[in-house]
Amino acid sequence: MNKPVLLVVDDDEQVLAAVRRDLRSRYREKYTIVSAASGEEALATVKELKARGDSMAMIISDQRMPGIQGTELLTQTREIYPIARRIMLTAYSDIDAAVKAINKAHLDYYLSKPWYPPEECLYPVVDDQLDAWQAEFLPEAKGLRLVGHQWSPQSHEIKDFLAANLIPYHWLDVEREIETRALLEAAAVTPKELPALFFEDGSVLRNPEPRQVAERLGRSLSAALNLYDLVIVGAGPSGLGAAVYGASEGLKTLMLDRHAPGGQAGSSSRIENYLGFPTGVSGSELTRRAVTQAQRLGAEFLVPVEVCGVSVDAGYKHLRCSDGREIVTRTILAATGMAYREHTAPGVSEHTGAGVYYGAAVTEAPAFKDRSVYVVGGGNSAGQGAMYLARYAKDVHIVVRRDSLKDTMSQYLVEQIEKTPNIHLRALTEIEGVEGEGHVERVVLKAGTPGTTVVENADALFVFIGTKPLSEWLPAGVVRDGKGFVLTGRDLVASEVYAKTWKEKREPWSLETSVPGIFAAGDIRAGAMNRVASAVGEGAMVVRFVHEYLALT
Ligand SMILES: Cc1cc2nc3c(=O)[nH]c(=O)nc-3n(C[C@H](O)[C@H](O)[C@H](O)COP(=O)(O)OP(=O)(O)OC[C@H]3O[C@@H](n4cnc5c(N)ncnc54)[C@H](O)[C@@H]3O)c2cc1C
Repeated sequence: MNKPVLLVVDDDEQVLAAVRRDLRSRYREKYTIVSAASGEEALATVKELKARGDSMAMIISDQRMPGIQGTELLTQTREIYPIARRIMLTAYSDIDAAVKAINKAHLDYYLSKPWYPPEECLYPVVDDQLDAWQAEFLPEAKGLRLVGHQWSPQSHEIKDFLAANLIPYHWLDVEREIETRALLEAAAVTPKELPALFFEDGSVLRNPEPRQVAERLGRSLSAALNLYDLVIVGAGPSGLGAAVYGASEGLKTLMLDRHAPGGQAGSSSRIENYLGFPTGVSGSELTRRAVTQAQRLGAEFLVPVEVCGVSVDAGYKHLRCSDGREIVTRTILAATGMAYREHTAPGVSEHTGAGVYYGAAVTEAPAFKDRSVYVVGGGNSAGQGAMYLARYAKDVHIVVRRDSLKDTMSQYLVEQIEKTPNIHLRALTEIEGVEGEGHVERVVLKAGTPGTTVVENADALFVFIGTKPLSEWLPAGVVRDGKGFVLTGRDLVASEVYAKTWKEKREPWSLETSVPGIFAAGDIRAGAMNRVASAVGEGAMVVRFVHEYLALT
């Protein structure tokens, strides 16, 4: 197979020669460096490479060129090589233009000219972007192959597990991809054994559980130590924040997650407001970086492991896992966040995993290419989900009870949605039901006031409504509000039950719960900000209180 390509585009001969030289000197062993002197030439080259079956890792383009400009080129090539990293080369005076182009061209980075010395200004950026590309890229003939039915909840579960855990795989729908028949026959896999996961060495897992997949991929599911300083339950942004700080400050730190690292943020197609990422960052990319950082600093990480209960004995906390195992620790961080509420309309629960999906827009979007999908919910997560689905689906309908999105969604997303022709806002509308034989075929909508019922053809319904805290696993002594959100610090002190529950001489620290040494951070907390940055910040803060608690005991 040919080496992946790095394409450089600039109409200035000298600049083009200089970038080409710098890239060759560092990347030529693993990549082929190709150059073009105009947008038109670059577009023709990209089409030719695609036709030859070559892979494209990165396109670096100047903005100001006669004819096709950088932004336009990067937008057009995205349709041909969707995961290639896109970098714009800008003069200092063009930075404004580059920033404005971020949304349109989905830039991954912009680099100011000149980039000298390349060791400081060019290579770190290119290395970083190539790492991100490598994490997503899967050569056609390589890697895991998952064969199953599109409408099977078990197939969806494994797809979601692999995608959320950043394990690249090829999805093969048994009804659409004829070549799967030969694959199944050769391994004697029967229809009842689907989904089946094929490994590169020829071995197969039939109808596996996520846990078996993790074990087969060599992931440890057992804790290495008998006693930890800090066990973090939930590996969303707050858990990851705590893992990085806990491990870097020498605490024996273990992080567990029942599904995958990243939490809600991991399912986001583009986080635009996290500090330090001017071009936005996908949830999976942010998660990949955070997990690598936490592990490099020494945090231990087990997934999928679900915690279902905790007991406290002489200050030691015993966590009970759903597989019956027990883990002992001196402190706990509850960072289990929130999950979407179930939609209760008739037909929804029967079709869950078979056309009804909670979140999961990123995992399932490619399966709905050229189809009609419905998104229910008016928050940012629904907006991001709709934008992502619109890249594949023919039509995306956003169903909301209110008359507009303006009170529930960030302005930048409302604007993006308005500019996307295949997204249709269905205001003052509710989902009344879902129908179909074995999978979603129609949705029943009640539109307007007093409300007319209409039935429309639909291929899928993505639910992004309301959220509930995942706090049931905490011991009864942890005080929660009426909705199940955990009270910490001052909110706890102000609660009616404080005097009855808190028996220490000191007051609880700001992120401590009513059980000393059990902390809570992120969306699970009453009064949380529900943002990635605040969750990360709280996770980091907890580590300081953990030190104080350990010093007292
Ligand atoms: C689609 C989407 C897009 C978003 N976009 C943005 C954005 O652009 N900007 C922004 O600031 N915010 C955004 N948010 C909000 C942000 O993602 C959340 O505020 C943030 O993820 C909260 O982090 P957390 O660590 O508290 O919890 P979560 O992210 O909810 O993570 C909790 C983790 O705990 C695990 N878990 C739960 N129960 C257990 C158990 N019993 N045992 C083990 N593990 C368990 C879960 O599997 C999960 O991984 C978005 C949310 C969604 C859903």
